[in-house]
Amino acid sequence: DYKLSQRVNAIKPSPTLAVSQKAAELKAAGKDVIGLGVGEPDFTTPEFICTAAKAAIDAGHTRYTAVDGIPELKKAVCEKFKRDNQLHYEPSEILVSAGGKHSIFNLLTAWLDAGDEVIIPAPYWVSYPDMTLLVGAVPVVIEAGIEQAYKITAEQLEAAITPKTKMLFLNSPSNPTGMAYSAEELKAIADVLRKHPQVLIATDDMYEHILWTNAPFVNLPMVAPDLKDRTVILSGVSKAYAMTGWRIGYAAGPKPLIAAMKKVQSQSTSNPASISQHAALAALTGDQSFIGEMVTEFKARHDRLIEGLAKIPGLKVRPGDGTFYAFPNVEGLMAMVGVDSDIELCERLLSEANVALVPGSAFGAPGHFRLSFAASREILDEAVKRIHAFAAKYS
Ligand code: PLP
Repeated sequence: DYKLSQRVNAIKPSPTLAVSQKAAELKAAGKDVIGLGVGEPDFTTPEFICTAAKAAIDAGHTRYTAVDGIPELKKAVCEKFKRDNQLHYEPSEILVSAGGKHSIFNLLTAWLDAGDEVIIPAPYWVSYPDMTLLVGAVPVVIEAGIEQAYKITAEQLEAAITPKTKMLFLNSPSNPTGMAYSAEELKAIADVLRKHPQVLIATDDMYEHILWTNAPFVNLPMVAPDLKDRTVILSGVSKAYAMTGWRIGYAAGPKPLIAAMKKVQSQSTSNPASISQHAALAALTGDQSFIGEMVTEFKARHDRLIEGLAKIPGLKVRPGDGTFYAFPNVEGLMAMVGVDSDIELCERLLSEANVALVPGSAFGAPGHFRLSFAASREILDEAVKRIHAFAAKYS
């Protein structure tokens, strides 16, 4: 009998990874399963990035680097913020880590004490609540449904803030909903935050580039520069450059906080992989046209998928602003099938229709499921056909 820590017992394994694994197992067992659970682009890393990584090996960049990332990469991250976001950061305000997830974990470890409250808008990315619990802090979830495009309002935020609130997560465009906050919406949120100086804002911009709104990408410090010294931007190369396996993320924020996060990193993982850092450097400083091509394809798939899903009885779906996820409300379908939970619905879809999806409960939004459209149009068409046939059976 192993008496595990209370911290670890408070959390569950990542449910999205679990779905991908289940689908892979069924596939390996010979079942014709379509897995739409994955959270990574189905593109390969652009060649010039791979070439830079090979060159890094040949040049002998195979040793420890500075804990917080090689200076060239930190400089490239600063340039990226200037180029894309008109935000000025010094290299001392940047920390490079082993993936966006790692950046978030460093932040929570450096910023939160036991009992501190963290406001998490739902639907949320699966890891926010569990990472919060892992450091002993308390997730406070605000729910935003389909009628409000899955985005919290300033009023909801105001009502959720207490003297114990130490942080707010924002994720736009959002995994799992694909929705992005407009400048106006962020300004209203900023007005609330100004009244509560103890709250740090963690803006997870991982999907910044996978966006097709008419208006360009905005985050909180772009619309509220006075809050920049209370904001940490969390991002990385995983999604924009199809580099999920390389494990490079970065954080930008106030120097003392970044220094504290660096200290955490220095006593846990040390530097992210040296070769991956050189690859990320090539990604950020090289030809950016790959992103546009990928986003064009994602948008085309999105339009087709949303159209197909909208025709399925029992589904309600809103077009998204970006990312590669669709997040329909499936309460109608649950009622038709006669199941109480979206988890059960997804199990039935897997066993009866051979389609693997992630239940909305994993994202704090029961009554939904998430489909990833990081799959070919043919596969998506087939998935829609199967889900439609499944729904038709019960209507
Ligand atoms: N933030 C969001 C919203 C994500 O969806 C993901 C990946 O799924 C991450 C952060 C973490 O990305 P990485 O693979 O770089 O750790």
